[in-house]
Amino acid sequence: MAAPSTSRVFAEVLRLPQRQLMKLVYPLRELEQHLVPDSRPDLQQSIFDPSLDDIGRAESVFVATARNRIEYVSSAVRLEHAPDLRQPEVCFIGRSNVGKSSLIKALFSLAPDVEVRISKKPGHTKKMNFFKVGKHFTLVDMPGYGYRAPGDFVDMVETYLKERKNLKRTFLLVDSVVGITKNDNIAIEMCEEFTLPYVMVLTKTDKSSKGHLLKQVLQIQKFVNTQTQGCFPQLFPVSAVTYSGIHLLKCFIANVTGNLK
Ligand code: GDP
Repeated sequence: MAAPSTSRVFAEVLRLPQRQLMKLVYPLRELEQHLVPDSRPDLQQSIFDPSLDDIGRAESVFVATARNRIEYVSSAVRLEHAPDLRQPEVCFIGRSNVGKSSLIKALFSLAPDVEVRISKKPGHTKKMNFFKVGKHFTLVDMPGYGYRAPGDFVDMVETYLKERKNLKRTFLLVDSVVGITKNDNIAIEMCEEFTLPYVMVLTKTDKSSKGHLLKQVLQIQKFVNTQTQGCFPQLFPVSAVTYSGIHLLKCFIANVTGNLK
């Protein structure tokens, strides 16, 4: 079976009324409209600014078909046990409850057979879970952590981040309702220390009023601009409930893994 054409996959989204479409696909543009003109605080929304056509093409990478199998591969507690997959890899990291499983499920919504919550039961060893997205890339769901991440967790994650050769980008999740917390700093400091290219994804954007969300986004943007070296200067606000920002994030993932042709 051939991969569905771009238009079929993205057609429903493209049929939305213009305002709704822009809000769903380009959430930062929509937020920016609420800023006082000329105040121009640096919402860096135009660095990665693909067309709707690019976004539609990227979408097909995430559609499971007989030729594009999207599936859980295995879990690992140590890097040595990680599957030997040579394709480009991206990983998702964040504190427990930040919305990581929900986001990964939203990214895999066109692959309904994928089971995301593999080792999440309380008391189970925290593992890195590897998912293959056809021949395109591998997505790694890193274990969530709480304040004072335990030493063995840090060892596992640090080793992976430092040594995984095909790791193209780390997606660091921050809850947009609460902003950057001490817990988030565990991951930020790791990424900075290892000079990894990473991206901040702001989760649960549907939960706040527009005013609160804008305030948080501006604060986090300021943090990224002034306190980080390796963080991509554009934020990715998303909601796993409304799917706002999900298509753009998929397009960014396709781009950093070399799949946006
Ligand atoms: P994880 O521990 O990081 O994997 O977090 P989960 O994905 O399990 O989400 C934690 C809680 O936040 C759950 O109750 C989710 O239903 C909720 N949640 C996650 N993402 C969203 C979102 O985008 N919007 C809203 N409103 N709730 C969310």
